[in-house]
Amino acid sequence: MNVIETKEIYKNFKMGIVDVEVLKDINLNVAKGEFVSIMGPSGSGKSTLLYLLGALDKPTSGQILVNGKELSVLKDKEESIMRRKEMGFVFQFYNLIPNLTVEENILVPMLLDGKKVKDYKDKLDEILNIVGLEDRRKYTPRELSGGQQQRVAIARSLINDPDIILADEPIGNLDSKTGTEIMELLQKINVEQGKTVIQVTHSKEAACYGTRLVLMRDGIICDYNGELKRMSS
Ligand code: ADP
Ligand code: MG
Repeated sequence: MNVIETKEIYKNFKMGIVDVEVLKDINLNVAKGEFVSIMGPSGSGKSTLLYLLGALDKPTSGQILVNGKELSVLKDKEESIMRRKEMGFVFQFYNLIPNLTVEENILVPMLLDGKKVKDYKDKLDEILNIVGLEDRRKYTPRELSGGQQQRVAIARSLINDPDIILADEPIGNLDSKTGTEIMELLQKINVEQGKTVIQVTHSKEAACYGTRLVLMRDGIICDYNGELKRMSS
């Protein structure tokens, strides 16, 4: 079963009076349980594509189906519920809130809904264990290393138990050793939690992970048959 299907996606951005075509005829299917690495140089349209898949932006034309539901027919409320329940996001610069603790950062959407940290004790224990931060729950982001901050962001992406994790340059801000640890964590989440992972990256090191490599150039997918041998951990 495909958790993501795209059909002839085009995306234009208006730059003054010029319409710039940033994505052209993107047809990408991702099956449940895959870990797809989309690699391409800076400016090739990777983040734009990932944001479309995550319903954070809309294509100029074409269709995107997430778990069989076409995004363009969803109402705003349905779309935001889907984004919360079915997808988790991980970004290059972690996007944590500086004055909240680790556990509060992980629970931000719930706290906004008026829930309390204590309502989620078991779930937090489970997720902090997966990302290896059990002893850091009361720390704030500035008391953590970059790699630990990215672990918090990954924990936050898992809190609603989504099917799909979308990661934009997840190790782009990390040194090589820490980057390897974060990629191994994403791989573990793919293998052990059964999450479908889609990452976009310009780094060969990051793109070595995953079950399939998709190459992008100038807004097109130029190769999507790259079966990767899963790196042993
Ligand atoms: P990548 O993530 O591969 O580096 P992006 O998807 O961020 O590439 O950008 C692809 C192209 O689209 C770039 O030329 C960028 O300048 C342009 N672009 C991205 N977002 C916008 C926007 N909101 N408005 C105008 N142009 C944009
Ligand atoms: Mg980008």
